[in-house]
Amino acid sequence: MNIRKSLDNILKKYGYDLIYIRRDKRFKCSCYSERSSGQTSSSCNKCFGTGYKVAIEKIRSRRKIAPLTESLVRAGRNYEIGNVSGTAFLYFIQHDVKPKKGDILLEVEWKNGVPFKIKEKHFISIADPKHGAGGRIEFYQVYVKYDTERPGDENALT
Ligand SMILES: [Zn+2]
Repeated sequence: MNIRKSLDNILKKYGYDLIYIRRDKRFKCSCYSERSSGQTSSSCNKCFGTGYKVAIEKIRSRRKIAPLTESLVRAGRNYEIGNVSGTAFLYFIQHDVKPKKGDILLEVEWKNGVPFKIKEKHFISIADPKHGAGGRIEFYQVYVKYDTERPGDENALT
């Protein structure tokens, strides 16, 4: 059984498009120097508050509501009880996306194939690679942490 192909078929039928914000940690965003005590500039309209240069990618995925206990255990200290508020999501992401902890997933509204409104913003807290029988990575299970949108985010998207 080819798991990569199976997931590809599932996502074609049942998945939807979302935005993957990939940080390039080699390049700091111009807002980086303004950071104090780990806080990024909330008004930065380039980096979604990550503090780094970012690339905006369109990916296909689907999600399910993650069992809360599992999410808590897996995410360890990244989750605080107050942030979970009953719902945690688990995304299924294809192997070639190579998701990384700290990158961002955006649930968006699309208009003519272009994202024009952010509905939800999630930081990746765990990107768990699932290996097949041959040892290669077949797909990722990605656990996320909800984040409130920053004022500059819509600008960063468009
Ligand atoms: Zn920035």
